[in-house]
Amino acid sequence: MPILVMKFGGTSVADPGRIKAAAEKVRGEVENGSDVIVIVSAMAGRTNELVGWVDSIAPFYDAREYDAVVSSGENVTAGLMALTLQEMDVPARSWQGWQVPVRTSSAHGAARIEEIPRANIDGKFADGMKVAVVAGFQGISPEGRITTLGRGGSDTTAVAFAAAFGAERCDIYTDVDGVYTTDPRICSKARRLERIAFEEMLELASLGAKVLQTRSVELAMRYNVPLRVLSSFEETGASSGTIVCGEEDIMESRVISGVAYSRDEAKMTLTAVADRPGIAAAIFGPLAEAGVNVDMIVQNISEEGRTDMTFSCPVPQVTRAEQALQAAREKGQIDFAELIADTEVAKISVVGIGMRSHAGVAARMFQALASEGINIKVITTSEIKISVLVERKYMELAVQALHDAFELDKAGQPELAAKAN
Ligand code: ADP
Ligand code: ASP
Ligand code: MG
Repeated sequence: MPILVMKFGGTSVADPGRIKAAAEKVRGEVENGSDVIVIVSAMAGRTNELVGWVDSIAPFYDAREYDAVVSSGENVTAGLMALTLQEMDVPARSWQGWQVPVRTSSAHGAARIEEIPRANIDGKFADGMKVAVVAGFQGISPEGRITTLGRGGSDTTAVAFAAAFGAERCDIYTDVDGVYTTDPRICSKARRLERIAFEEMLELASLGAKVLQTRSVELAMRYNVPLRVLSSFEETGASSGTIVCGEEDIMESRVISGVAYSRDEAKMTLTAVADRPGIAAAIFGPLAEAGVNVDMIVQNISEEGRTDMTFSCPVPQVTRAEQALQAAREKGQIDFAELIADTEVAKISVVGIGMRSHAGVAARMFQALASEGINIKVITTSEIKISVLVERKYMELAVQALHDAFELDKAGQPELAAKAN
């Protein structure tokens, strides 16, 4: 029997009625001749509520207990989905991560899936079960504790199951009908893409487009899992949604594929740092040890042997970064005049594999922001993306301006010069 993986996110299983609508889609695939592995998220809002309870009791929590609490939302949905399918006469049962078992690393709160043995679920399929409903987002560590995979982690559970079971396809059902040129909730002109390349999706996800968890795209790319994003709120068929695939399978020629934003960025500046060999290592070493995810880095021109060093990190890590840098200063490893944290910034990025072969993307991006009077605080680039930090109050305006500047609402692309070889 061909195996299909179908994942339903929080809004797609928000209440018993939504679970029933999702179960109807699963029944349709069973009737079409597939064995199905359904991966479910917690009901909408539930994981946030659980995280809130943990934070209110223990701001510096034991991550093992955090995982014990926040993984529970998915258990409820898995059981309810299995019951709903049984009521429809579809042979189904639920599985929590540890029962499969989904073996992960011990990095609580951000664990990595290491192995998914097939035997238990295959055995049940052989006995006539048609649907295995698996709680997403969770697994079990080598120490036997429950782990979670990081927010949005059910996407990764789904792709990992698709890889482990050699699934024909991994369908991610969500509250939008595909991957758009930008978040359709903040730009009304956003256009659904028929296809997007793994590499572009990887950048968009890691730069803030939460439609897929970054790790799920990495896995899909590594194991060549046919991945599709589509709506659980609409009638869907073979051509619905967006296919995430290798770039060789993309017909539409475009320079930029999308604009992503990340709201929770902070810009940290160390002033009057000694400009000497080894200073960057002395600053970023302690930050890495403290688990701060440093993203952009800028070192200013030095005056009289002193320079300013600026970097960005997620807002929730600002306190940790400050503590690590003050501790390094007390130990005499670094010396600076001031540490200034600006937590009112957002990162906006344009992404497209066409940037490899076309010039002028940066110029057009900066021009579009300038025409809206938006000041750029930090810039970084890589082969297929350009990111800027701007004041957070301009975030939506910046996304819309860039969407317009690159004419992403149209299938064609504005003329940009080809790069000279
Ligand atoms: P789920 O609960 O199904 O996992 P998420 O809320 O995690 O759903 O992801 C879907 C959301 O991602 C959409 O509602 C949309 O607001 C947001 N999103 C951000 N960027 C994009 C994009 N480029 N295309 C589609 N959706 C996007
Ligand atoms: N429920 C988890 C979260 O909200 C996992 C997921 O939905 O993918 O992050
Ligand atoms: Mg999600």
